Amino acid sequence: MWTGILLSALAMTAIIAGRYLASSGLFALVTNRVRPGYHAKLSGQIRREIAWSLASAAIYGIPAGVVAWGWQQRGWTLIYTGWNDYPLWYLPLAPFIYLLAHDSWFYWTHRWMHRPRPFRIAHAVHHASRPPTAWAAMSFHPWEALTGAVVIPALVLMVPIHVAMLGLVLLVMTVMGVTNHMGWEMFPRKLVHSALGGWLITASHHQRHHEEYRCNYGLYFRFWDRLCGTDRGLSETL
Ligand SMILES: [Zn+2]
Ligand SMILES: [Zn+2]
Repeated sequence: MWTGILLSALAMTAIIAGRYLASSGLFALVTNRVRPGYHAKLSGQIRREIAWSLASAAIYGIPAGVVAWGWQQRGWTLIYTGWNDYPLWYLPLAPFIYLLAHDSWFYWTHRWMHRPRPFRIAHAVHHASRPPTAWAAMSFHPWEALTGAVVIPALVLMVPIHVAMLGLVLLVMTVMGVTNHMGWEMFPRKLVHSALGGWLITASHHQRHHEEYRCNYGLYFRFWDRLCGTDRGLSETL
């Protein structure tokens, strides 16, 4: 049993590290095209971002590996594979619940990590990226990585989700994690400045968090920031 769990954790770590290198690498390449010179003079910072991110991949891999093993071997999770196992209307609702739950958890843990002590011990690592790059997507101190690593493994034990919708959640999580840090806005101005855009977090919003620290704490949605008066709007530098 323990060998199985260990192998599962190692496999998950390899998958998460590979996913990070592929996604951050791809958007870093695009950044070189779209914003030539953005990475100039940042090579030392980028090396540190990659090192912290690979350490985070190992931390994310452990709970993911344990739960993946439990899913396959013990039927622990509420991940389902048959399209009709739950009503069809629930299919698109589940990823929305996952993103909202993850966003809420992130907002409050993130705000807490901006208190002086947790900031010094953990969150300062993420803010050492000035300006952030696509490689900063998983650049977290191990304590902070741990707070992020437990979210999806905990949710699959509590909230039913089709395996394809879980893949969609992981895709959104990966793409937004990378693109929110890459230093330019990939979504059309029309969307970002629309009424809907006023509720969504993209690079223009998260960049401002990296510029001013004490605002724009959210992950996917601006709901908590707006409710708690911490939303300062979009960055003016992108
Ligand atoms: Zn960030
Ligand atoms: Zn922060």
